[in-house]
Amino acid sequence: MLSLRARLTSSYILVSLICIILISVLANLFLERQFRQYIRDNLASQNKQLISLISRAYHPNSQWNQSDITEIGMNALTQGLIIKLQGTDGSVIWDATQHNNGLCQEMMLHMAENMLSRYPNWKGGYVENSYPVVKNFKEVGTIKIGYYGPFYFKDTDLAFINTLNEILMGVTVLAIFIALFSGSFIAKRLSAPIAKVIHTAQEIATGNLAARSGEKTNIKEINQLTQAINNLGNSLLQQEGLRKRLTADVAHELRTPLATLQSHLEAMIDGIWKFDQQRLKVCHQEILRINRMVAELEKLTRYEQENLTLNYTRFRSKDLFDGIAVTFEPELHQKGVELRISGTDPWITGDRDKLNQVFINLIANSLKFTPKGGCITIDVIDKPDTVAIGVKDTGSGIAPDDLPYIFERFYRADKSRNRLTGGSGIGLAITKAIIEAHRGTIAVKSEVGVGSEFIITLPKGLG
Ligand code: ADP
Repeated sequence: MLSLRARLTSSYILVSLICIILISVLANLFLERQFRQYIRDNLASQNKQLISLISRAYHPNSQWNQSDITEIGMNALTQGLIIKLQGTDGSVIWDATQHNNGLCQEMMLHMAENMLSRYPNWKGGYVENSYPVVKNFKEVGTIKIGYYGPFYFKDTDLAFINTLNEILMGVTVLAIFIALFSGSFIAKRLSAPIAKVIHTAQEIATGNLAARSGEKTNIKEINQLTQAINNLGNSLLQQEGLRKRLTADVAHELRTPLATLQSHLEAMIDGIWKFDQQRLKVCHQEILRINRMVAELEKLTRYEQENLTLNYTRFRSKDLFDGIAVTFEPELHQKGVELRISGTDPWITGDRDKLNQVFINLIANSLKFTPKGGCITIDVIDKPDTVAIGVKDTGSGIAPDDLPYIFERFYRADKSRNRLTGGSGIGLAITKAIIEAHRGTIAVKSEVGVGSEFIITLPKGLG
């Protein structure tokens, strides 16, 4: 299996090479085609110029100026053109092959060599075209222009196209080197942070839950991956903390009633205390306490099951809260705390009994922590898709350190675990499980010394 870095490098380099080679081949083909066309056009214009020059060497009185024609012909020969000028009667006026056959042969050979040096399979040969020579709208002769055809590269043309090819080749080689270098550089830059994140994930997997990756890149997805792994580490660390705390809390919850039972029973067995109804009653209460705790835990497990079946009905929020107000009336009166119900009266769809338990838990908590003269407010807000219900008190509030944990089972902000203020710390866990079974949410806001507010959002259209 290839590493990410090797895979990225090879893919990048392969794609780059294909692109570079494709571009070079296409550029080469295009240049070659354009250059050949340019050479053909050039040859045609050279021929035209030659005919025009030759016609100027004709004078109606003295006829052809031999020295001018020789000069033009020899000049053309150096350009690779072999000319033969004939009069209107067919007589030869000037012929390059007659004038210097050796040079003509040499020139043909040289052009053939030029072409073969560039195209080893080139099949060319001598080509001759005839053109009439016209002076003052009168044909005064015929010129035959011969050359190595279908076209040929002069030394300067050959040097130009070869240099161009060399430059193209150089650029291609340079581009390949840049692709190799940048490919491995980019692959390293991409894979290095991923390798670090993998390392962090492996560390976390082997139990080092505090391992984090501080890798910062300018690639969004890699940053998101780093963040996700770090968040995973944080939540595992938090879960680990909660697990330890849960074990300690369960032990603590069980220790008190068990210690009471043990000491009472031992004292009675050893004959220090007599078996009397009062002492057995204390033992019985402790057993009831443990039983209650186990029953609550069972209830929570049931509520947290994915497939909890809720008995949906539609009811008015006022009906629910008026009933709860009646339930709490004696306790509220006894503690001197006021309960207010405000807001609107929307329809709620849900399991009425379980929602009833939710609000009983919340109000019972508020009542526990709200001093005499305080107030508990239930505020109902009807929103387009949800019903939001706030349960607010003017009680002791919850410390910021405790707030994230209060929905965890057995968590009690009251570290002294004063039995006067409490149950066993399962109430809010059950509350949350019921709300989540309704696909709702529960949140808490609190300030020490000011009060707490639990906000429940229930979606409409359930059932
Ligand atoms: P308990 O059975 O102890 O009431 P809960 O799960 O209902 O357990 O609550 C967990 C803890 O959250 C409580 O022990 C208490 O410290 C804190 N708490 C809950 N509601 C309030 C409130 N209204 N005001 C202050 N503290 C609260």
